[in-house]
Amino acid sequence: MSNTSHDFDLFVIGGGSGGVRAARMAAQRGARVALAEVLGTDGLGGTCVNVGCIPKKLYSYAAHYGDAFEESHGFGWESTPPVFNWATLKKNRAQEISRLNGVYSNLLRGSGVSVFDAFARVTGPHGIALATLNADGSPGHQEFTAKHILIATGGTPHVPHFVGREHVISSNDIFDLEPFPKHLVVVGGGYIACEFASIFNGLGSKVVQLYRGQQVLRGFDDEVRHFVAGEMVKAGVDLRLNADVVDVRKTADGLRVECEGGAVLAADAVLYATGRVPNVKDMGLEAVGVAQGAQGEVIVNERYQSNVPSIYAIGDVTNRVQLTPVALGEAMVVVDQLFGPAAGKAPRSMGYEFIPTAVFTHPSIGTVGYSEADAREKFGDVTIFRSEFKALKHTLSGSGERTLMKLVVETASDRVVGLHMVGAEAGEIVQGFAVAMKAGATKAVFDSTIGIHPTAAEEFVTMREPLRA
Ligand code: FAD
Ligand code: NDP
Repeated sequence: MSNTSHDFDLFVIGGGSGGVRAARMAAQRGARVALAEVLGTDGLGGTCVNVGCIPKKLYSYAAHYGDAFEESHGFGWESTPPVFNWATLKKNRAQEISRLNGVYSNLLRGSGVSVFDAFARVTGPHGIALATLNADGSPGHQEFTAKHILIATGGTPHVPHFVGREHVISSNDIFDLEPFPKHLVVVGGGYIACEFASIFNGLGSKVVQLYRGQQVLRGFDDEVRHFVAGEMVKAGVDLRLNADVVDVRKTADGLRVECEGGAVLAADAVLYATGRVPNVKDMGLEAVGVAQGAQGEVIVNERYQSNVPSIYAIGDVTNRVQLTPVALGEAMVVVDQLFGPAAGKAPRSMGYEFIPTAVFTHPSIGTVGYSEADAREKFGDVTIFRSEFKALKHTLSGSGERTLMKLVVETASDRVVGLHMVGAEAGEIVQGFAVAMKAGATKAVFDSTIGIHPTAAEEFVTMREPLRA
C-alpha cells in the first residue's frame, strides 16, 4: 500500500471529528499517515469537542437542573432555592474537554499517526506546507508530500456586517463568557441560536431571541417548529420573530441593541448564531485549482474527491450536512476507498436520506426523515399521525411542558418516511427509531411493535387514528 515516493500515504489537514477518524482508521489499515491541527493538542477533537456538541450538551445538562429542583417539590422534595455557580461549570467543562483532547492525542499517536501542531497549506496536488514554531518560538516551515491529501478543516461562525459587529460574540466565545450574562440577546433561528437561548434561559439569564424570519428552525417540520417555539416561550425565552438588528452599541452598563421598527434591548452579551462558513482561508486551494463553491466550500464528488484527484474533503468544509456523525461517516468511506475496508468487512457507503438529528432545545427535538411538506412534495399522498400530551412526569412536577410526536407515512407503500418528536430525551428516543426507518419500516410494523410502558416513546407505536391524509 505504501508509496515510498511520497513522505506519507495520507496527509489529513484538521484534527476535528472527520480528520481524527480518517487519520486513525487509515493508520490502522497500515497507511503512513500525518495530521496537522492548527490548535495543536488543545484543538484535537475540533469544533465538536472544544466549542460544539460536547460542551454544549454539558451546559444543556446544567441548564436542566434549575427546572429539576423546582419540579422536585411536587414529588415531595423540599429545599432552599439552589444557586447556580457559573465559574464551577466553566472550570469543570474545561477540565473534561482537556481530558478529551488528551484522549484524541493518545488515540492518534497510538495508531502511529504523525501529529503536527501547525497550520497547513496545500502547495500542489501532493504538496503540503506547514507553518510551525521553532524551539525558540520563531516561525518555522516544513514541507511534505503525500499520495492523498484530505481536507477536514471544518467551519467557523459567520457574523454578518452591521454597525457594532465588534461588540457581539459567537458560539466560540460563549462557553467562557465572563461574567455570566444576566441579559442575553441571541440572534438567529437555527440550531445554535435555539439551543443557546434554551440553555441560558435554563441557567437563569433573561434571554431575548431575535429571528429574522416567520418561524425558527427553517427546514424542520412546520408543526415541530411552531410547537418547539411555543414551548421555548412558555419556558421563558422572549422569542421575537420577524426581528432584525439595526445596530449594537456599547453603553455605560453593557450593550444596547436596536431592532428594525425601533425596539431597543439592553444586554450584557449579544450572541450571533447566524450560520457557519468553511475554513479555507489562506490554504492555497485556489492556487492548486481546487474547485470551491460560493462560500469557499470544497466541491467533492460522491467519493469525496475534489476536481484535483489526489485531494479529498469531508465534513463541514464541504458545507453539506454539518453534523459530527456525518463527518465521521464520510471519513470512514474515504478510508475504505483509499486503503480498503476493515478485515472481513464490505466497503462502507454514506446515505444522506434518513440522517437522524436532535436540537438540544428545552424541550429537545429529535427528528429523522422527511418533514410533512417535503414528504408531500416527494411522495405525493402521505398520511399524518400526531399525538400531543403532557408527559407522566409533569402530572406531579407542576411543569406545563407538553410533548409532540408525529409520524409521516407514505400512503401508497405504508412506509414511515418522517418521524418527529419534541419532548424530553427526544434524541435518545429517535436514535432507535432511525434504525427502523433505515430498514424501511412500515406503519404496520410500527403498529405491531409492543410499546414499553409507561414511557413517552411508546406513543410512536400506539398512534392508530390518522390526523389527516
Ligand atoms: P471540525 O470539527 O470543525 O474540525 C476542523 C479542525 O481543523 C479544527 O480543529 C481546526 O482548528 C482545524 N483546522 C482548520 N484549518 C486548519 C489548517 N489550515 N491547518 C490545520 N488545522 C486546521 N453536531 C452534532 O452532530 N451534534 C451536536 O450536538 C452539535 N452541536 C454543535 C454545537 C455547536 C455550538 C457547533 C458550532 C457545532 C455543533 N455541531 C454538532 C456540529 C459539529 O461540531 C460539526 O459538524 C463537526 O465538528 C464537523 O467536523 P469536521 O471534522 O468537519 O470539522
Ligand atoms: P444554521 O444554518 O442552523 O442557522 C443559521 C440561522 O441564522 C438561521 O436561522 C438563519 O436564518 C440565520 N441567519 C443567517 N444569516 C443571517 C443574517 N445575516 N441575519 C440574521 N439572521 C441570519 O446555523 P447555526 O449557526 O445555528 O449552526 C450551524 C450548523 O451547525 C447547523 O446547521 C448544524 O448543522 C450544526 N449544529 C448542529 C447541532 C446539533 O446537531 N444539535 C447544534 C448546533 C449546530 P434563515 O433560516 O432565515 O436563513
